[in-house]
Amino acid sequence: MLLMMIGKFWRCNSCGAIIKTKIGVGYQKETNYKFECERCHQEITLRFIIKEYTDKLGRTNYKDIWIPDGISKSKSNKFDFCFTSHPDFPTRTSDVYSFPFIDALNNRDETDILQRQLRQVFWHELSMKKAKNLKMIYRNYSLGDFENFKKGIIAFQKGSTEFDSKILSALLPGELPLNNNMDKLSALSRVLDACFFPIVVSKNHFELYHYFESYIADLNQTEYQNYNEFVDFLVNNNYLTDIQNKCFEYIFNFLDLSEDFSPVIFEWDPENPDATFPSDANINNNISFDKIKSFSVDGFELLSKSLVIIIGLINIKHRHNYDSINYDPRERNKKPFKGGLIEFNAIANAPKFKLLSEENKFDKWINPVIDSKLRNDIGHFGYTIDSNKGYITYYTNKEKTKSNTITYGEYLFRCIRLLVRVYQVNILVKMIMYQHLIKNTMDEDATQVSADIKI
Ligand SMILES: [Zn+2]
Repeated sequence: MLLMMIGKFWRCNSCGAIIKTKIGVGYQKETNYKFECERCHQEITLRFIIKEYTDKLGRTNYKDIWIPDGISKSKSNKFDFCFTSHPDFPTRTSDVYSFPFIDALNNRDETDILQRQLRQVFWHELSMKKAKNLKMIYRNYSLGDFENFKKGIIAFQKGSTEFDSKILSALLPGELPLNNNMDKLSALSRVLDACFFPIVVSKNHFELYHYFESYIADLNQTEYQNYNEFVDFLVNNNYLTDIQNKCFEYIFNFLDLSEDFSPVIFEWDPENPDATFPSDANINNNISFDKIKSFSVDGFELLSKSLVIIIGLINIKHRHNYDSINYDPRERNKKPFKGGLIEFNAIANAPKFKLLSEENKFDKWINPVIDSKLRNDIGHFGYTIDSNKGYITYYTNKEKTKSNTITYGEYLFRCIRLLVRVYQVNILVKMIMYQHLIKNTMDEDATQVSADIKI
């Protein structure tokens, strides 16, 4: 199924040019393509549907259905130009005879290919197919409907095909305990991890995870009072649940866009998240750039909102007071900041990130993905897209005389980098919540004990 290309010949309705299309059969049942006739520049769209059916002998079979617009079928087998695209791989620009999946495999060693393919299969099996299921689990969690939350988790673990139930029983073995609030929170994040590990998990991710863990544990020990006042502050102002909700929304948004991200997943390597998207590869699928654009803007905003937590932690560590901001990031010469975290939370997004530099690990974690310039330029001065070649050109000045060009694949990569950070912020929030829940339970137990003694 996966490694198949279907070649077809067409005639352009307006100029008569013969066009060959080579369309890859991927994981998706339906794909839409948009391209231009190279001779007359007429826009052509092609819908390609794979229909599954059972034949007379009871075997599963597939039928391909084509719905063209701007072109009609042609019997010719000579062509003026060729359009190549695969929904799960980028197309190399160099050669009309290229096969996207073979090109994607080129120059890689066997283990690397295997890992990438596994990642891609897991991603499709778990995330794309389970988006609805996951959203339901989360919805019931936030509504406090733990009866249905539990049912959702059990259904999720069961899987819907033999293949995904095998993966899931390896990732989430046994019954997940759901006895108390800590269990529920941890079940929720384990289910999410089972879906997102192909995109997120890496050595670096684990290191960061442990760094968060020890950072919080450390503060809770050495700055017990300051730290717990800070957590109360976060809870009382709804920062934790608010940011958690937004993180989940963002992560689910990514699932909704998973078809758009599909052609870059094979190229994405969580171990090398900063590797640029290959410059000779392009994505010419029919992607809605507006949705992707808001995804990247939302990611930036969300990371900025989450600074109230991260900067608070840094303040405690370095100044023993969560409200003590290092300096005013909007002013030169590091003037003192008037006000505390609430005031800090309200200021413009871009300068805030400067304050991360006080803690090297946080700085290196977040700041490389904060491309406020790209975001501003695309937002304010506009952009153009060459969907045939898969480039975005964005203007860097108001007069639109200066511009930068990046590949569409690279823009999608930047979005995945944002997603990974948001995913990790969600983990940090979860850890703080988890510890808060433990503390509350212990306080309750302690009250219980003293009540018992009184009696
Ligand atoms: Zn034409």
